[in-house]
Formats: sequence, structure tokens, C-alpha cells
Amino acid sequence: MRDFTKSHEWLSINTATIRKQQGAEVPLERIIDQCAQRGIRAISPWRDQVAAAGIDQVAAQLRAHGMVLSGYCRGGFYPAADAAGLKVALEDNRRAIDEAKTLDAPCLVLVVGGLPGALQGQAAYKDIGRARAEVRDGIAASLEYAREVGMPLAIEPLHPMQAAERACINTLEQALDICDELDPAQSGMLGVALDVYHVWWDPKLEQQVARAGTQRLLAYHVCDWLTPTRDLLSDRGMMGDGVIELKKIRGWVEAAGYAGFSEVEIFSDLDWWKRSGEETLDICIERHRSAV
Ligand code: ZN
Repeated sequence: MRDFTKSHEWLSINTATIRKQQGAEVPLERIIDQCAQRGIRAISPWRDQVAAAGIDQVAAQLRAHGMVLSGYCRGGFYPAADAAGLKVALEDNRRAIDEAKTLDAPCLVLVVGGLPGALQGQAAYKDIGRARAEVRDGIAASLEYAREVGMPLAIEPLHPMQAAERACINTLEQALDICDELDPAQSGMLGVALDVYHVWWDPKLEQQVARAGTQRLLAYHVCDWLTPTRDLLSDRGMMGDGVIELKKIRGWVEAAGYAGFSEVEIFSDLDWWKRSGEETLDICIERHRSAV
């Protein structure tokens, strides 16, 4: 297992972690500069942030700093109420793949979607089996295009508490089953983004991480699970402040062959988004050395 205690060369920052600073939305340009100033080599930005900043400007700024992406957030949200909606989702995923390519991302992260409309408070249907079938078909279609352009897709299983609104793929095993079905050759074009926040509780985690192996482990996200959790989306903890055995899980992931970035992804309306980006980043670096 790599020694993270003396350097943060394998730290990446998911830009959601500091997208709000002292409550205000912060432009991606500033986030990139704040990371670069601290010798952080990689980020994972969100599509809306990139769109606001201009994708060519973002690509140029990253090049100027010698920075790379650890992933691109995000594609997915495949299920829809009707055929027209399914088509819109596929077209949007195609654009996301193109953007990821422009930014030279190692993968496009897929938050696959749940019951269509549920995120807006009005589910178009309740059949989660149907949603899962639409997700499978959507990934299959995106994968064809992803292969053409050479952009790996990383399915991110989400904690079951988010099955209705955000993702009906909820365990690593479920994600890997889809990978094996759609990419039996393990081409490297379809895999998973493993986020400890979503999977730490899973009794099959160690076994499924070993099953995933290098070909499927495309991204690794860290934060911590706070007790109590006060908000289902935006109360993620800083590494070391919660109950996730971070070093143990990274040990499994690296034993399976993963040697990429460890990406800090913290949504925190109640704490970290209330602080300055500088303070949050400095503590991310410190905890990445001591707790990850
Ligand atoms: Zn994540």
C-alpha cells in the first residue's frame, strides 16, 4: 500500500468540495488556482462548473498548471418516463463523453439515475426494476460511443438511501454485474468509481473490490460518514471525522491493483461549505496524509 503520510501527490480534489466557500458559489477558475497553489495535481470538476468557465479555458488553465483530471462529473441519469426522454438522456451523455475527452479525463463518472422525476419530487413511475433496465440499456448505448472516442465509463454505485432520486445501482456487486454483462472482455472501457461514502457498509465490499481488479477500478473517492448524518446528500464528513475505515478500504483497493488518485469529495452544507476554500484544502491535505 502506498505511503500517503509524507506527500499528497495522489490527492485529487472533487471540485464540489470547495464549490461553495463561505456559502457563496465559487468559479472553477479560482478553485483550480487554489488547488495549484497547494501542489494538488488533479481535480474532478462538474459539468456545470466547466460550462460556466468555458471548457477550452478550463483545459488551458489545467495545462498551464500541469494538472490533470481524476474523473469528470458526471454522466448518467438514464431512466425516463417515455422514449423521447430516454433519447434526450442518451444525447446528453454523448455530450458529456465529448467534454470528458476534451479535458482528457481518465473516465466519465456515471451517476446512473433512479426513478425519473423523483429528484424533482414527482416520480413518473415506481418500478425500480424498470429503472434498472433503462440504466442497463442506457449504459450499453453510451458504451458504444465511448468505445469509438476512447473514453472509459465509470459507474458509481450510490448508497441505497439515494436509490429513488439519484442512482438505482447501489452496490459494487450490482455495478460489476453490469460491467461483466456489457464488457465481458474487461476492455478497460467500462468500470466503476468507488466512493467509500456509498459502499463502506457493504458486507461484500472486500470480496467485490478484489473481483473488480485493475481493469474495473477507474476512480476512488474518499470522505467520511458522520454520526449522526444530518442531511442525506450534503452532510459528508472530512476524512478522519467519521466511522469509515479509510486505510483498510484503500488497502483492499490497492491490493486489487488500483494505483490512481484518491479523490476527496465532500458535500457539506452544514460545515465545510461554510468555511474558506483555503482552510478546507489545507485540512484535506493534512487528513489525506493522516487518515486516508
Ligand atoms: Zn463520488
